[in-house]
Amino acid sequence: MTIYTSPYEPIAPGEYHKGGVFDFIFAPERLDKRRDQVAIIDAVTGAKTTYAELASESLRFADGFTRTAGLKRGDTVLLFAPNSALYPVLLFAGQAAGLAVSTANSSYLADELTHAIQLAGANVVLASADLLKVAEKAAKDAGLANDEIYVVPATDGSLPSSLPSGMKPYTDLRGSPSFKPVIPSEKEAKTNLAYLPFSSGTTGKAKGVALSAFNITSCVLQTQKTKGLFDTRDCVLSVLPMYHIFGLVVMLHLTFFHGGTCVVLPKFDLPMALDSVQKYKCTTALLVPPIALAIAKHPIVDKYDLSSLRYILCGAAPLSADLQEAVSKRLKGKTKVFQGLGMTETTSVGAIPAADKVVPGSVGQLLSTMEARLVGDDGKDVKEGEAGELWLRGPNIMLGYYKNEKSTKETLTSDGWLMTGDICTRDNDGWYRVIDRNKDLIKYKGFQVAPAELEGVLLASPLVADCAVIGIYSEEQATELPRAYIVPDPKHAKSPTLTKDVAKWVEEKLAPHKKLRGGVVVVDVIPKSPSGKILRKDLRTAAAKE
Ligand code: AMP
Repeated sequence: MTIYTSPYEPIAPGEYHKGGVFDFIFAPERLDKRRDQVAIIDAVTGAKTTYAELASESLRFADGFTRTAGLKRGDTVLLFAPNSALYPVLLFAGQAAGLAVSTANSSYLADELTHAIQLAGANVVLASADLLKVAEKAAKDAGLANDEIYVVPATDGSLPSSLPSGMKPYTDLRGSPSFKPVIPSEKEAKTNLAYLPFSSGTTGKAKGVALSAFNITSCVLQTQKTKGLFDTRDCVLSVLPMYHIFGLVVMLHLTFFHGGTCVVLPKFDLPMALDSVQKYKCTTALLVPPIALAIAKHPIVDKYDLSSLRYILCGAAPLSADLQEAVSKRLKGKTKVFQGLGMTETTSVGAIPAADKVVPGSVGQLLSTMEARLVGDDGKDVKEGEAGELWLRGPNIMLGYYKNEKSTKETLTSDGWLMTGDICTRDNDGWYRVIDRNKDLIKYKGFQVAPAELEGVLLASPLVADCAVIGIYSEEQATELPRAYIVPDPKHAKSPTLTKDVAKWVEEKLAPHKKLRGGVVVVDVIPKSPSGKILRKDLRTAAAKE
């Protein structure tokens, strides 16, 4: 077995945090030094939240979760909202109350949200005022009553004066700041659920990724070992969705651990993002490749002073070396443009670059306190320098897929290796590159699209007899696009609007990032193995030749 270790200093045995997430981020020795420092700036309103306010507001909502909503340790709240200054408060409130917090994609449509609520076994849903129709239908289908839904403000900060019957405003949950946070024992911190984001993993539909407090606190400590990359001066442009692991852990937990400031945008908007960097002198931007593309190409970029940016860290999907260099050039070489490799299943980071070196096209070196293997198709480690599937092990590897032993066993080996499904190479200096994926996952602008989910929806259409979905890469948009190959139902094969109708069918049922932007292609037969498995590789090879 060839096991690679990280070049970064490991976490010393006594250095691990033994409690929960709230007492880690807001430990007195940290909080006392930064009570009046600004933790959050709302980019829309300019409102600022200090560290003291962030901690006390979190405790107020922890009190409300416990006393008003009657939630007990181990219960689950599900957040269904876009980014806001309140979002981190609710995350930390859940942690302080000893709850599990599940984070659903705010663009989910009703069926997707029902699936998420059921998977998480959520007791309470906190839904944005903009999303109440979806939340109400989904909660009902999942067996939750309206009085288990609390409404958080819409993106414009407003709360409707009248709410659907039974739903309550989030303000009902604002209790006392003298709530005593629940601190899990060392064992509980390792075994209890702290967060439950979603990922389709290597195959199938979305699954709940069970992350413990130990996973979160370790991942923050591990990432911090990448000296110089994150520090207390950080003012972080925070456009990544907080429900996704990159936003949840790197953007929020890591920044607040260090005492930096998050400039929060409800969603990506180029002028607002550039204006925020200029106005608040952001030092750091955490981005996904399509946003990097906008920075490299969009004419308005030149109108802003972005010289405060020390570095950009890109993740969640591949950033080509060319684009990496184009962004750096556009920012006059003053800003280092890095990329890292992360996964929900690794509590965000797996590989990360050193602060003093940019290697274009590489996702960096192995994160501190992790081990890696590169495994070939035959299950054996490949020779040094060759490509293989990246297997990772370390304190930040998820507990498993929530209540899904089968998928957990398919992804985690009995000796703790996570089979990532990413095909990587490693050079002699320990820098990794992702060169392919051997899993059924499409990344549209960093968002996961599971082919199996799209195929399920397509097969339910009367227009489709058989189908397969793959991702095709668009250089123009710096992202993969989901494309469907369909064998039409004979009754509809001649319909002139067939492909449009199929695309519309999907659009009506799934969140916008799952739209068939890569097209609908009519074929006679879907290539399959003798056992009936779709041969996606054949389709990908054919698409690449086009
Ligand atoms: P998620 O759990 O949504 O973060 O998705 C994780 C997957 O995104 C990884 O297993 C990779 O396939 C892909 N990914 C993340 N970062 C990168 C990167 N820098 N380059 C290539 N693929 C990436």
